[in-house]
Amino acid sequence: MFSLTYEFRLRPTNQCKSLTSAKKQYPELKKVQSQVLQQTLKRLEQAFVSMWEYDRGFPRFKKVGQLRSFVFPQLSESAFKPGFVKLPVIGWVKLRQSRSIPLDALAKQARVVKRASGWYVMITLQWSVSVPQPMPYGEALGIDVGLMSFVATSNGQCVKRPKFFVDLQRKLKLLQQRVSRKKRGSNNWHKAQQKVKELHEHISNTRKDFHWKVARDLCNQAQTIFVEDLNLAGLSRGMLSKHCLDAGWGQFFSILEHCCFKRGAYFQKVDSRKTSQICPNCQIETGKKELSERVHECGNCGYTTDRDVAAAQVVLLRGCAAVGQTVKMLAEGKFIGIPLKQESSPL
Ligand SMILES: [Zn+2]
Repeated sequence: MFSLTYEFRLRPTNQCKSLTSAKKQYPELKKVQSQVLQQTLKRLEQAFVSMWEYDRGFPRFKKVGQLRSFVFPQLSESAFKPGFVKLPVIGWVKLRQSRSIPLDALAKQARVVKRASGWYVMITLQWSVSVPQPMPYGEALGIDVGLMSFVATSNGQCVKRPKFFVDLQRKLKLLQQRVSRKKRGSNNWHKAQQKVKELHEHISNTRKDFHWKVARDLCNQAQTIFVEDLNLAGLSRGMLSKHCLDAGWGQFFSILEHCCFKRGAYFQKVDSRKTSQICPNCQIETGKKELSERVHECGNCGYTTDRDVAAAQVVLLRGCAAVGQTVKMLAEGKFIGIPLKQESSPL
């Protein structure tokens, strides 16, 4: 019965063919560049495939104005001049260029995104520079993330977790109440709705900013960084799901990885199981701690430290074991010489 599913699978070619007939039926489609339409169809197919293969939900129908972004998969060679980008069919569009585009880089695609504060363009560049895969070396740092302290490091530093969403929930509730009291679809309703969107964007911007700041700070301290490989999907379903999602560990890890990549630091995820149940000093299991238990005190060797710091130290030990080094060896730059994968990095 389930094998039937594959027979209904959409092929992008089929979809793209039906585009021609769809254009006859809906002439407004002709106003949009065909590659943009094709990309949107590919995205739809991806949504169907992930529903069938990964058990995701049914693709949601998007009304007018609900699609948040679209892609131009190709840009012309001279698509940039200071303060402007040339989008196919649309033409020259003014933009606030927050950073310069490297001269020898080739713009491959542009994604136009609509946010509450305006329209944004994300540009993907191809840049032929060889980026060496960093090797583990220098100061090594283990990192534990949690709800009490956002980040705890193996050298004893703890960063408090700001509550981005949770702190502004009252304000959000108020704004949402205002929306519900307006007549649906009216001008005032749209204005109130805009306020809600802006608050959501503000929350996610502050969170991202904080993640970058912490990541930069960590990269300043160390050249080799190990983090736990957490089951994020599992955590976001639990009792503290709101707080787990508000912390945004998934985004933090990818930002940290990116930051390490830019700084030439080595980044690796390690097994996260039982990091809080092992003593980093004598490596004997000390048993489960309650969430309220903030201090690690080993009954075997008497080692006492902050609970999260102890977990970070366990992460550091595991990371070092994973790359076949010890903390001291990394600091002294002595390698046993395990062959690490040398990959050219796609920038
Ligand atoms: Zn111990």
